[in-house]
Amino acid sequence: MALVIAAPVIPTIAVVGGGEFPVRRIYCVGRNYAAHAREMGHDPNREEPFFFTKPADAVFPSGGTMPYPSRTSDLHHEIELVVALKAGGSDVSAAKALDLVYGYCVGVDLTRRDLQNVAKKMQRPWDLSKGFDRSAPVSPISPAAKVGHPAKGAIWLKINGADRQTGDLADMIWNVPDTIAYLSQFVALAPGDLIFTGTPEGVGPVNRGDRLHGHVDGLADLTFTVA
Ligand code: MN
Repeated sequence: MALVIAAPVIPTIAVVGGGEFPVRRIYCVGRNYAAHAREMGHDPNREEPFFFTKPADAVFPSGGTMPYPSRTSDLHHEIELVVALKAGGSDVSAAKALDLVYGYCVGVDLTRRDLQNVAKKMQRPWDLSKGFDRSAPVSPISPAAKVGHPAKGAIWLKINGADRQTGDLADMIWNVPDTIAYLSQFVALAPGDLIFTGTPEGVGPVNRGDRLHGHVDGLADLTFTVA
C-alpha cells in the first residue's frame, strides 16, 4: 500500500529501565475521588463512571518545558495515576482486568477550565478543553512486573515546591480493575491504550513559569515547566 503522505509518528512514552511504550488512545475518567467530585459541585455517591479522551499525541515527556496553552486564561492541573495497557479486549471482567496492564505512570490531566466551564454550561463537548496539544504530561512508565499494581499510597502534586494536591489511591471511587472492566463494555481496549484514572481534590490554576512536580508512591516522578 502506498501512503500518499508520510505516516504520522506514533507517540511514545519512555519506560523505566529502557524502551519506549507506544500510545494508541488516551482515555480519562471524570470525577473518581469523592472529595474532588464535591469540589466540582457533584454528588460523589457511586454513580457510574464517565470517560472522555485525549489524542495520543497529547502526551508530553517528563522533564520538558511547554508553552502556556493558547485560548485559555485558566489552565488547571489534575494529578492522576495513569494505567498503560499491553493487551486489550471487550467486556473484560474485573477479575482479569489487571492481566491487561503493562505498567503505570504519573500524569497530569491539563484542563482549560474556563473553556470546560463554558462547554458544561452550553452542553458542548469537552474535546478542546481537555484534549489539546501537550495536555497529557506523563512520567516514564514503571512496568507492573517490577512495581506491581498500586492500589493505595500517596498521590500528590507540588507547584514551585508548594503542596497543591494530596490524596491516596485507596480513595478512588472506581479502582483500576473496575475502571478497565467498565470501560471495556463501551470500547474494545487494545495494547497501547492509556487510562487516566481521575484526580483527588485540590485542582487549581497553573501559571506561566510554574514548575510542576507530580508523584505516586512507587512510580517515577513527573516534572515539567509551563513557560
Ligand atoms: Mn482528570
